[in-house]
Amino acid sequence: MVRTGGARRLNVRARAWCSFALLLALVPLVSACPGAVEISPPPNVLLVTIDTLRADHVGVYGYDAAHTPHLDSLAARGVLFENAMASVPITLPSHASLMTGQHPPRHGVRHNGLHRLSDESNTLAEVLADGGYHTGAVVGAVVLAGETGLWQGFAHYDDAGSRLATDESGFLERPAIELSNRALALLRELTEPFFLWVHYYDPHEDWRAPAEWSKRFVGRPYDAEIAYTDAQLGRVLRALESDGRLGRTLVVLTSDHGESLGEHGDRTHSYGLHETTLHVPLVLAGPGIPAGKRVVDVVSLVDLAPTLLTLTGMKPLADASLRASAASRTLRAGGRSG
Ligand SMILES: [Zn+2]
Repeated sequence: MVRTGGARRLNVRARAWCSFALLLALVPLVSACPGAVEISPPPNVLLVTIDTLRADHVGVYGYDAAHTPHLDSLAARGVLFENAMASVPITLPSHASLMTGQHPPRHGVRHNGLHRLSDESNTLAEVLADGGYHTGAVVGAVVLAGETGLWQGFAHYDDAGSRLATDESGFLERPAIELSNRALALLRELTEPFFLWVHYYDPHEDWRAPAEWSKRFVGRPYDAEIAYTDAQLGRVLRALESDGRLGRTLVVLTSDHGESLGEHGDRTHSYGLHETTLHVPLVLAGPGIPAGKRVVDVVSLVDLAPTLLTLTGMKPLADASLRASAASRTLRAGGRSG
């Protein structure tokens, strides 16, 4: 069922300098720019989470061997946060933090499969839906199935249902090409303003990219999966551009956690709290967002939902973990970009 409430009309026009200041901080410091932080009219929001994507394996983060042209070009027309940190290196708890603005001890989801996000939680999708956004999600792994509670606020939640449970690979994932196909179909249904979340899972183990990508990245199967996913992300961005909606869409690209790749004695992720597993890419681009900016301050993904709600002019989350971070201090100091 699609919610039909019209978009809330905003009566405050964005002031570029103040939006930029907020972006520098990536914190919900509305008080720093009273009454002048929304983007008007409210933009569409495309949130993309590429699972298991450590920042230093993305081209625009300085990894010359990467092939991530779409992610790189997104950063070129937006703001890149050089030091964004996930709350936890586990898929479901990290996405729960992203959606609620809370760290795991607050929202209560500490592991995949063992916990469920409470129906009492207040999520980014719920607030946007209440504010008139048409919402949809396409997720690529069974650990983010709707029953985990993440479907709160989404009128459409495409998790492939029980088919994932019978996947013969044992990793219970959907390939990026399928996710982009589903995202493109959903985009044809969603009227504006929309909030679409697309979750790609391919860079998660096991690393088995399609042959054309594996051949280009011999001996680097993780990078091959990233390159393949980037190409599929490009299909979604091109579709928005071709139908004229990209200019009205705030695009957010991040990841739920990184990957150890053997560092610190860990082949993958989940338990080691190192930069390899917590440092993720974070890029925002779209209307009202300055182009080509890089922010060096350390920011947390729990600040993302409150910031998106500020930029879209929505009410704040009911119980986000608002706190004075290093980034907020940067805002007060006028910002520090690299
Ligand atoms: Zn994950």
